[in-house]
Amino acid sequence: MTIARLNDLADPAACPRLVIKVGSSLLVGKHGVRRDWLETLVAEIASARARGQEVIVVSSGAIALGAATLGLDKGGRGSLADAQAAAAVGQIALSGLWAQLLGAHGLTAAQLLLTLEDLEDRRRYLNVTATLTRLLDAGAVPVINENDSVATQEIRFGDNDRLAARVAQAARASAVLLLSDVDALYDRNPADPEAVLLPQVRGVTAEIHAMASGASSSGMGSGGMTSKLQAAEIAERAGIALAIANGTHDTPIARALGGGIGTLFLPKRKAGARKAWLGGRLRLKGALVIDAGAARALAQGSSLLAAGITGVEGTFQRGDAVAISDASGEVLAHGLSEYDADECMALIGHHSREHADILGYAPRSAIIHRDQLVLL
Ligand code: GLU
Repeated sequence: MTIARLNDLADPAACPRLVIKVGSSLLVGKHGVRRDWLETLVAEIASARARGQEVIVVSSGAIALGAATLGLDKGGRGSLADAQAAAAVGQIALSGLWAQLLGAHGLTAAQLLLTLEDLEDRRRYLNVTATLTRLLDAGAVPVINENDSVATQEIRFGDNDRLAARVAQAARASAVLLLSDVDALYDRNPADPEAVLLPQVRGVTAEIHAMASGASSSGMGSGGMTSKLQAAEIAERAGIALAIANGTHDTPIARALGGGIGTLFLPKRKAGARKAWLGGRLRLKGALVIDAGAARALAQGSSLLAAGITGVEGTFQRGDAVAISDASGEVLAHGLSEYDADECMALIGHHSREHADILGYAPRSAIIHRDQLVLL
């Protein structure tokens, strides 16, 4: 099932794994944390989980909360040092709040603080993927924010919109819901009475970019429509649907998805999107030679397992792109290796149940996971 309208984001069949981004202005009001509102959102997250959806939260608000505690002006965004100090203070309260409110529904919160580099570097990217998968399998709700206190200016996302899209990509989510204080994308400045809401966008074109006006309207977050469109572009290329909706009201998910109020950015076709992502930045560092059985399994959409590998060529590291070729040297696929070349050497031909003994640590589920692999 694919996602074709907003309400599909609430359907576990169409959207088994959903990333929900919560903007600063929703979490923090004039009088501090909007706890009552957050309780309604957390109840919705608990219902989503109960109907079979996995949920990852990307929560802003650390800077806004910390700035209030430290008494910093401009919401803590007057300088990078202010923002980093505010985030260090606010993050503790923020994650405590999520843990407490999710805990009231019997859900375990898991905090991850990420930098851009964690999601750009393939090796770290695979680790983030593995951690998120493990957490979701274990029934936890990951609550993610940027590691604002350590990320330097050049390597900051700065806004959680793009972070949410990159997290969705790493988590292989079906969709991202960006909740903020804007209703949707309009064809011009929404203050203009002639402005028309766009319910659906297929392809973030130059024309779409021209409709967005700059900065965050609340002045509290750092997002604004520009960063939302950038997030939509990341998601679109990764084959993930992205919706923007107004989260200021109670039970914001039901209002946005059930009421169909928001803009849905449709994804590109999954296979093509993944190919573009893997292909776009691909410098092959080596090759894995496989037998006929493994070649058949790959063609049917399976991951590459060690048992079907007959040779390892080149010196590559975990996260590097490698070719997968058959005995005659024909390249069948490209993918990101879960292991270094020497680990692959040690594992080839061995059944997965032997891997822990050979490696001396818990093995990954495959040499190349099918989601990190493109057939040629
Ligand atoms: N990471 C920032 C915070 O927690 C928010 C970034 C944004 O405004 O999107 O305060």
